[in-house]
Amino acid sequence: MGRPSFYLYLTGVLMLLGLVLGHRLSERASLDQLSALVTERLELYASNLQTELGRHAYLPSLLAIDDGVARLMEHPDDETARRAASLMLARVNVRAGTTQIFVADAQGRVLAASEPLTPPLRLQQAIEQDRHHFFASDTGQAGVAGSTNFFLLHPLRRNQKLQGVIVVKLNLAPLEATWVDLGLRSQGERILVADDQGVVIMSSVEDWKYAVLSRADVAERDRLHASARYPRVGPDLHLPGALEAYNSLLVRAPAPASTTLLAQERQLLPLGLRLLALSDLSEVRRQARLAAWSGAAFGAAIGMLLLYLASRRRALRQLFHAKAQLQDAHAQLERTVDDRTAELRQINEELVDQIAQREQAEGELLQTSKLAVLGQMSAGLSHEVNQPLTALRALARNSQRLLEAGRTQAVADNLQTMDEMVERMGTITRQLKSFARKAERASTAVSLLASVNNARLLLEHRTRALDLRFEVEVPAGLRVSAESNRLEQVLVNLFANAIDAIASEPPHDGVERRLRIAALPLEDGQRVLVQVQDSGPGLSEALLPRLFEPFFTTKPAGEGLGLGLVISSKIVHEFGGTLRAHRLDHGMSFEFDLAVDTWQAEEGQYV
Ligand code: ADP
Repeated sequence: MGRPSFYLYLTGVLMLLGLVLGHRLSERASLDQLSALVTERLELYASNLQTELGRHAYLPSLLAIDDGVARLMEHPDDETARRAASLMLARVNVRAGTTQIFVADAQGRVLAASEPLTPPLRLQQAIEQDRHHFFASDTGQAGVAGSTNFFLLHPLRRNQKLQGVIVVKLNLAPLEATWVDLGLRSQGERILVADDQGVVIMSSVEDWKYAVLSRADVAERDRLHASARYPRVGPDLHLPGALEAYNSLLVRAPAPASTTLLAQERQLLPLGLRLLALSDLSEVRRQARLAAWSGAAFGAAIGMLLLYLASRRRALRQLFHAKAQLQDAHAQLERTVDDRTAELRQINEELVDQIAQREQAEGELLQTSKLAVLGQMSAGLSHEVNQPLTALRALARNSQRLLEAGRTQAVADNLQTMDEMVERMGTITRQLKSFARKAERASTAVSLLASVNNARLLLEHRTRALDLRFEVEVPAGLRVSAESNRLEQVLVNLFANAIDAIASEPPHDGVERRLRIAALPLEDGQRVLVQVQDSGPGLSEALLPRLFEPFFTTKPAGEGLGLGLVISSKIVHEFGGTLRAHRLDHGMSFEFDLAVDTWQAEEGQYV
């Protein structure tokens, strides 16, 4: 159920049903309509015929009372009486508009007549049967249709004994001619009049005149032909005998027309005639065909409507189904998203925990490294201070003895030496103080080039003495986040170390004495890398890891303290950067990074 093929099949069945029903109903309705119309027309024809035939019904009986006729009956052989009667009849015939009038004796012999004539064959029989009228056709030459006549009879009696008849003949040809005319004009309708023998005596169709109704029997036809009542015998018109029992019947017209016709009949009992109307059904058929196609189209339309409704319902059902699936999928997605969110939240929490743990570990590590630095420093400090202290004590004791001996000059020399030693110890503690100073947030914007120039100025006396090429590749527009004094302290340290290294080597060919400072952008200009490179002897690979150890120095005693790089590293760290060192082919490179505050690229600003 619901498949399109079913609905197509249904549409086919509905079309067929519409076709058959449309045809049947239309045919029945049209037939009823036609039959009602024809019944009315038959009525009209009947009254027309009756009027025409009854118009002269009075005439024979009127003539019967004529004296001349009475005299003729008394002396049938009297020539004078016959002539007088004939004259009278001729006059009446002309005035009444009849065809012929004559008087015959009981044997059917003509006694007087409106014109010379031969009495019809049936006259004798009619007299014997005491009939008041009969029909007879002109028996012309065989094969030529004659016209039908109507004869009115009136008996002439004396003492209850039949002596003769008065006969009035009416020719029906003019009336029939109007019917033929009508029949020609209305193609669809044929009017026939059949006599008591079932032979058509009047017809609107010329060919059907003298046709025999419902007589398939050849012998009967031949008998009728032999009777010489009719000029010829026409074709058989197969009308069912009991036509009057029905309102109408369908009959088949004789060849060559051979179509189906609607036959209707009306009896004209007093005249013993049957009035028949045969109607063409082509219009009925046409209407029925039209109705059949309309019915088929209607059936097809209903079928298509059903198909449309069914497919619409199916589409709606599918839509509903798809919607439900979509909702399911949506719900599933939401559940997945919720689950995933919960997972992510958990991971996030774990990460936060891990970060907290890492920060704690880092703090602890920092603490440990600080303690390590403190230990190293204490060891170095005690080593550095113990020596002068021992020397001071020895010198003090020595000075006491020299004083006792009165050697004041020697005491003064000793005091001079002691002063120098205390001065050296003071230098150490000053450096340490600088190291111990609490870190301040470097938040000011410092011109790197200005700091470089200041540091360079402080060491100018040494660079000039060494004939050193000082290269500065720092843009004037570069400002870094730092604190100027401490940045200068770092630069002075690095420059001084470089100058010391270059000075530690005698000048030799091919190697230029060179100190270079450069600023290179990092991270899209957010940070800057400051490089300080020299052309000195550098440091051996083995000593590199010890470079940032407190009190590590390779310089002769009394020249190096081994605190410069430690302090510089700490300051750079406070600025948020890292100080690193690596060897070059000739010399060393010290590098540290800083946050850039502004960097206006100004070409050609290098000094
Ligand atoms: P100091 O200069 O008092 O020795 P530093 O901490 O400044 O202390 O330096 C430690 C040591 O690192 C120096 O003694 C030297 O051996 C080495 N050093 C520093 N800078 C350079 C350099 N540019 N070239 C070679 N050696 C260097």
